[in-house]
Amino acid sequence: MNFNLRSKLPHVGTTIFTKMTMLANEQQALNLSQGFPDFETDPKLVQQVSAAMEKGHNQYAPMIGAQLLRETIARQYKEIYAVEIDATEELTVTSGGTQAIFTAIATIVRPQDEVIIFEPAYDCYGPTVELFGGKVVPVRLLAPDFQIDWDYVATLINENTRFMIINNPNNPTGKVLGKEELGRLADLLEGTDILLLSDEVYEHIVFDGASPQSVLRIPQLRERSFVVASFGKLLHTTGWKIGYCIAPAAFMREFRKVHQFNVFSVNTPMQFAIAAYLNDITYVKGLAAFFERKRNLLKDGLQQSRFKVLPSEGTYFLNLDYSAITQEKEFEFACLLTIQHKIATIPLSAFYKEPTDQQVLRVCFAKQDDTLLKAIRILNNI
Ligand code: GLN
Repeated sequence: MNFNLRSKLPHVGTTIFTKMTMLANEQQALNLSQGFPDFETDPKLVQQVSAAMEKGHNQYAPMIGAQLLRETIARQYKEIYAVEIDATEELTVTSGGTQAIFTAIATIVRPQDEVIIFEPAYDCYGPTVELFGGKVVPVRLLAPDFQIDWDYVATLINENTRFMIINNPNNPTGKVLGKEELGRLADLLEGTDILLLSDEVYEHIVFDGASPQSVLRIPQLRERSFVVASFGKLLHTTGWKIGYCIAPAAFMREFRKVHQFNVFSVNTPMQFAIAAYLNDITYVKGLAAFFERKRNLLKDGLQQSRFKVLPSEGTYFLNLDYSAITQEKEFEFACLLTIQHKIATIPLSAFYKEPTDQQVLRVCFAKQDDTLLKAIRILNNI
């Protein structure tokens, strides 16, 4: 039987992260491509999962998330940002950041709605918008500084503009939008009914003395925002797929209508484990220094190489400009590095809808020092 399967996403293939990790495994290459830590999760956190299971937390969690975890998250926002979150009305625990992003887009976007995204953009935004009939309006930002021209962004706004998506700190650029830029954004959106999706999954990973910048701190932005965060990044547990979304109560009610028929509720014992572990906020506060040291190790180690290291103000990614080595296209060069030099990276072009080639590759430094030292040795010899 020949079924007439009409793809809803004809232009979408397997994600670049999966592709490069598969190639890295096949080639037994050092994998600095997909963003995940290669070091162990804190055994104390793992023990908390067993403890939660032994205590009998093995059935459905509440649809909106375990109360203990929601309260812990709300307390964290209060302690770090002096921001009050209503843990019952404004917060839902999700199955990772990606599900929160998907659900927020599903909640808001209707056919013909325009959604402004900033490229290079994380790969799930555009296809998810398209799945719900929305139109992606990309703002292309280019290396090395990926600067946003807010006046240009203003020209893209029209009566169909429904949503804007920002990712701060930004994957893959490592840029952090500070108070001033977020202020520009607030001014731009003032008086419009455009909503904001703020993907803050790398929130606490900001360097050089910067403080984390959630849009929740800016009332004019908070009132129109879905904020997404992830414990995968925070706790080095990308395989647990637990995150959350915060939004004003009226938005959150709609978000939950979608969430309940998508995942219904999220893994129970892990929610209890995370709540117990984050009872002490010092962990979160130490995260930036932990990754800053790794960023410096890699950055400093590549000073003598032919790669030019672009600045990374946050996240656990660095971008390497290889134009001094070759003019080869990014994807081809990333494959060549994996196959011939046994090191896997991500071509920056994967984060743009229209073809780009800036001779830039993204590397992940959420790796053991030993892995980073091996990477430095390889890259210094290219
Ligand atoms: N967030 C990870 C990255 O940017 C990838 C997650 C995934 O593989 N979908 O590398």
